[in-house]
Amino acid sequence: MASAISNLSSSIQKKVPWDKELRVDLRSDTLTKPTPAMLQAMMQAEVGDDVYGEDPTVYQLEQTLAKMFGKEAALFCPSGTMTNQIAIRILTQPQDEVICHKTAHIYKYEGGGTFANSLVSMRLLDGAYGKIKPESIIDNINPNDIHFPATRVVALENTANRGGGSIYTLSEIAEIAKICQTYDLSLHLDGARIFNALVETQENPREYGKYFDTISVCLSKGLGCPIGSVLIASEALIQKARRVRKAFGGAMRQAGYLAAAGLYALENHIDRLKEDHRRARAIGEALQNFEFLREVYPVQTNIVIACFTNEVITKQMFDYLQENNIHVGLIDKKQLRFVTHLDFTDEHLDKLLAVLAHFE
Ligand SMILES: *Cc1c(COP(=O)(O)O)cnc(C)c1O
Repeated sequence: MASAISNLSSSIQKKVPWDKELRVDLRSDTLTKPTPAMLQAMMQAEVGDDVYGEDPTVYQLEQTLAKMFGKEAALFCPSGTMTNQIAIRILTQPQDEVICHKTAHIYKYEGGGTFANSLVSMRLLDGAYGKIKPESIIDNINPNDIHFPATRVVALENTANRGGGSIYTLSEIAEIAKICQTYDLSLHLDGARIFNALVETQENPREYGKYFDTISVCLSKGLGCPIGSVLIASEALIQKARRVRKAFGGAMRQAGYLAAAGLYALENHIDRLKEDHRRARAIGEALQNFEFLREVYPVQTNIVIACFTNEVITKQMFDYLQENNIHVGLIDKKQLRFVTHLDFTDEHLDKLLAVLAHFE
């Protein structure tokens, strides 16, 4: 009897027009698990020892991406942090300086790696929505004077994570690349979410090879692989990168099982990113209705950043979503981040929209 009553009261409590049990996870697009078809492709991979250069599947993945981005060679690595760190290492000498946005992953989220791994300083630029402006690059190139670190590299992030998944178009990239050419700087791309940008702009990735010296792409974000990033560059730079990867402990043996997931994703998971973007736009629109909203960053791809007017309301919204088994990122005292991905379905979206509509 007692338990019948408690069941009854909990079912009354639960009387909300959505399924509280349904877990919705929008913290990151890294949370996806391989689909059955991807696992199948992984299990069927032909493998060998890649440190001996004998893994055909790793080689195929590297060749595929190099061709796709108009470069000669590529290098499969365990993470995007490693591909970024290797790129900075091979493009610089100790005491050099790298220019990037103040919220760039390469600076903010890689454990101070550039300082420790490459002994370089970082010149941090401002700019709306995580993007740096061509003029500000010119203003921050050091004169040739022994007092100053030698400016050597510009690093862009496309899409820009902390900018709300914002896109640099090819024409913006071309303008920055021209500055780099004029001032003899290398240009690196942190393309953790480059495929999100490309499905929106419909630009040809081959063009990227003309502008960037090094390109890092992640397979473990929107593409839905469990592990893996690839650094794409000229043959000469990739030879250097191979040595650095070894020293960083990132040379792997039968890595073809992981590379097979990447090849599968390149075939099957690029076009579907548009679905993630459609759902992200729907979230962005729903958030526009809140009284305490300061701004939703323009939703261009799969990231929605909502900025609120005060900390209290931000935390309330975060807790309310969590109570309803919806998990988002509290990325700043006044900012929530929603990242859509392969495992976030229309059913999840409907629940989120219903839950948001009942917030008070
Ligand atoms: C996730 C991410 C990376 C790489 O992260 P890993 O977790 O090391 O693979 C690099 N740049 C950006 C912008 C990212 O979002």
